Amino acid sequence: MATVETRALTKRFDANNAVDGIDLLVREGEFLVLLGPSGCGKTTLLRMLAGLETPTSGDVLIGGEIVTWLPPRARNIAMVFQSYALYPHLSVRRNIAFPLQAVGMHRDEIAKKVEAAATMFGIEQLLHRKPRQLSGGERQRVALARAVVRNPVVFLLDEPLSNLDAKLRTSARDELQQFQRRLATTTVYVTHDQVEAMGLGDRIAVLNRGRIHQLGTPLEVYHDPADTFVATFIGSPPMNLMEMDHVISGFRPEHLLPRDALDGGELAPFPFTATRIEYLGADRLIYGTLEAPNPAARVISRLPSTISLPIEAGGRYEFAVRTRDIKHFDRESGLRRASGRA
Ligand code: ATP
Repeated sequence: MATVETRALTKRFDANNAVDGIDLLVREGEFLVLLGPSGCGKTTLLRMLAGLETPTSGDVLIGGEIVTWLPPRARNIAMVFQSYALYPHLSVRRNIAFPLQAVGMHRDEIAKKVEAAATMFGIEQLLHRKPRQLSGGERQRVALARAVVRNPVVFLLDEPLSNLDAKLRTSARDELQQFQRRLATTTVYVTHDQVEAMGLGDRIAVLNRGRIHQLGTPLEVYHDPADTFVATFIGSPPMNLMEMDHVISGFRPEHLLPRDALDGGELAPFPFTATRIEYLGADRLIYGTLEAPNPAARVISRLPSTISLPIEAGGRYEFAVRTRDIKHFDRESGLRRASGRA
């Protein structure tokens, strides 16, 4: 278990900074998720933590020691990739044993460690099989078993669940979180999937264009987004944004509700015309356009099935938002304003 830190860490490819002066401190035992759109620099950042990529400038520290120039094997980290990178010609047992053989550990000790790791991930009965004889979820567990067998102080995971189907992903996510909690190994996890990030992370670092826009708990990045990028990247559908009085105002779809469904608190009226209705089972998404006195912005409302008000495309409805649920952002910088519109 160790802290992982970066100081003004930068990686330039050609003329662009893929990672642009990132300062980050991952606490001991923490599960930290790097979340951002494709190309934002997540993988490059993770590879610099691993020692697979040389920074253009800045430093990487593990357990308080500068490791910027140390090779991967000297960092005591374990990395699991999207592809799992299992050796296809080796059995599961030999795949898991591989990193231990590489450091010349005694055979009996290797056997013990492989058994222990296999038991931890529930794959004892698969040790004789080859990777191609395993399901995606089983392969993932083998890759994780191989990662833990060396007792690394840090796990670096790059979209390890992206090859699994939706159902398996949910259970694999659950398993991964349990293992991480049990082992309490500091973990940095890369994903572009916000649902995964919200479900897994103790904290989430939201990246865009090589920079961290916000570092916070899932609740913080959702309810208190630092800027318009975070407000629209997190949440599906994203936060509704519109320019009002020279300020960008925003509210989440679940906060735009029929006026009659909102009791108590100060309300801002948002009458709108519905253009499309989407049924999601537990929720209904109402797409619409705001009416005067508000700007004719397109908005989305998420109604729980407990609100049974009939709504049709083309109809006009009296919706509203509690004023405390409206966030304000600077029009130029996109940064969140501490309070009010003025
Ligand atoms: P994805 O989710 O698509 O994997 P990412 O956030 O992990 O994206 P990176 O792979 O870190 O993004 O890439 C960040 C930027 O750096 C991208 O614009 C990419 O094209 C560029 N880049 C990455 N590796 C190289 C390289 N070896 N040479 C040149 N440019 C690179």
